[in-house]
Amino acid sequence: MKHIIITTVSVLALLAAWLLLRGTGHLWVPVVSIVAVYHLIVGYGSAQIKANYFVQSINKGENEGVAFTFDDGPDENLTRKFMDLLEAEQVKATFFVIGRKAAENTELLIEIDRRGHYIANHSYSHSNFIGFFPYAKLKADIDHCSATIEQAIGKRPLLFRPPFGVTNPIYARVLKKIGLQSIGWTIRSFDTVLKDKAALTQCATRTIGNGSILLFHDTQQITLDILPDVIRFCRDNNLKIVSLPELINKSPYD
Ligand SMILES: [Zn+2]
Repeated sequence: MKHIIITTVSVLALLAAWLLLRGTGHLWVPVVSIVAVYHLIVGYGSAQIKANYFVQSINKGENEGVAFTFDDGPDENLTRKFMDLLEAEQVKATFFVIGRKAAENTELLIEIDRRGHYIANHSYSHSNFIGFFPYAKLKADIDHCSATIEQAIGKRPLLFRPPFGVTNPIYARVLKKIGLQSIGWTIRSFDTVLKDKAALTQCATRTIGNGSILLFHDTQQITLDILPDVIRFCRDNNLKIVSLPELINKSPYD
């Protein structure tokens, strides 16, 4: 919807500029400006999932508490260690798995489910070019991940997080067609980038509050190292750690 409004306003602005300035030799100034601003807005909307520009994502919960989410697994070396830690702390998390990895680690996927965590779709390929996939290819990729999850645990996921948080109009059509809810985040921990544990803990907790959806990766040792501190921070500040479905009042499976 936002994209339609921005596109309409841009076209009208171009039309107005043409009507007012045609023949003056100055028409290029507003035309270049309008086109540049349009591309800046579209680029921002595509890269920033929180902008809800192309796709309406849930970026924050309505209920009390905070939810932990882990992307890019299952990781054969680390996911089980994450689950051990989460179990000891009695925390239920949501794992946005990559279908390709899930297919290679079916046992791990079954274990995530058996241990009471939730599994959600994070695409099959997690391709660097997924933002450029045409409709049929993107739909097949996302469908393939859901089918892989369903085959392993007998439940079809309803929650999806776009790789890199990048969206476009094709995603909007595909997710509507498949019936998946896009999930963003409130706090991106930057655990794939930050190398300093104190800085990462600070990044994960600095703006945390009721409703926060935290984005981590169960592929990172540093995340495993700082998770006890993040959990302690939540408990010291009376923030209940709940599951994502509970925080956002959405069913995780069909
Ligand atoms: Zn990812």
